[in-house]
Amino acid sequence: MEINSPIVIDDTTLRDGEQTAGVVFSRDEKIRIAKTLDEIGVGELECGIPAMGSDEQASVRALVDLGLNARLLTWNRAVIADIQASLDCGVQAVDISLSVSDIHIGKKLGKSRSWVREQLKVALGFAKQHDLYVSVGGEDASRADLGFLLELLEIARAEGADRFRFCDTLGILDPFTTFAKVKYLADRVDLDLEVHTHNDLGMATANAIAGIRAGARFVNTTVNGLGERAGNAALEEVVMALRHACRVDPQIDTGRFVELSRLVGRASCRPVPEWKAVVGEKVFSHESGLHADGVLKFPGNYEGYDPAEVGLQRHLVIGKHSGGHGLKERLERLGVSIARSELEVLLQRVRGVAEKNKKPLSDEELLVLVA
Ligand SMILES: [Zn+2]
Repeated sequence: MEINSPIVIDDTTLRDGEQTAGVVFSRDEKIRIAKTLDEIGVGELECGIPAMGSDEQASVRALVDLGLNARLLTWNRAVIADIQASLDCGVQAVDISLSVSDIHIGKKLGKSRSWVREQLKVALGFAKQHDLYVSVGGEDASRADLGFLLELLEIARAEGADRFRFCDTLGILDPFTTFAKVKYLADRVDLDLEVHTHNDLGMATANAIAGIRAGARFVNTTVNGLGERAGNAALEEVVMALRHACRVDPQIDTGRFVELSRLVGRASCRPVPEWKAVVGEKVFSHESGLHADGVLKFPGNYEGYDPAEVGLQRHLVIGKHSGGHGLKERLERLGVSIARSELEVLLQRVRGVAEKNKKPLSDEELLVLVA
């Protein structure tokens, strides 16, 4: 499926990311995160919820005052007071969110579909009177009746919305269903689409890509996939998937991904697991004899892209699964040359130590074995 380029990344680390249970960013942290996202070329930042109160409003204002290139959006319920609070912060773009599934409309709000239609018209009308750029957010859109969604998209388009956000709020779709639902809407309404996906079944990134392939031109991400419950589609995963799996260049300076990831990891008190896709410290570590040998011959044998592309380094570790080629290369770098006949014996001893310690050997441990 042809991709509707250019894709615009709307990163919501500062909104959905901070909404993660137990995560709080200080104002300084928000400013550093926003600046870095802006510097690497992220086009939009969802930067807060002004209706939460004066503290949040001051943070949003501080972000507006930075004069970033990125468009700043705030998150709002479809309520005039929320949108007014956003206007007071000086933003020029808003996400207006409303529940669109019958489950949410009935069991959360105790309202009806006609109430939702009315609320959309009133809130959107108010926002457009004030010249705001508006993304209408369909909360729980993944469980909504498609016919009703279509009706809402028509209302949104007619009332001047700039785009519609399809939210898999609970993260319960698979990529094929996401594709089908987004395509259904894209084929029927002349309105830009955005996808907002959650990772409850481990498919947030896959669903975001599926939505883009189905025609969405905007995608929500968070750094490290931070977000409600199991999190959102990770910025670094979506961008690298677009570049390497979809062959579309989202124009992001990915070389600072690790720096950004660690910044958000510290600010959220959620350290990044070593095996985290794209930015984990160990995702370019090779130990097994076959892989290390392959990478030494040509990195492209076992690496889909150069680790430097995201700010990481390759590690060839010596451990239980190492083979002769990797071991010999490591010893040479340490200034030790070893006869072929001795290599096999040393390899057995390396395995013994790695098994005992349940981890690879440090250079010092290796040198002790050689001696
Ligand atoms: Zn969300």
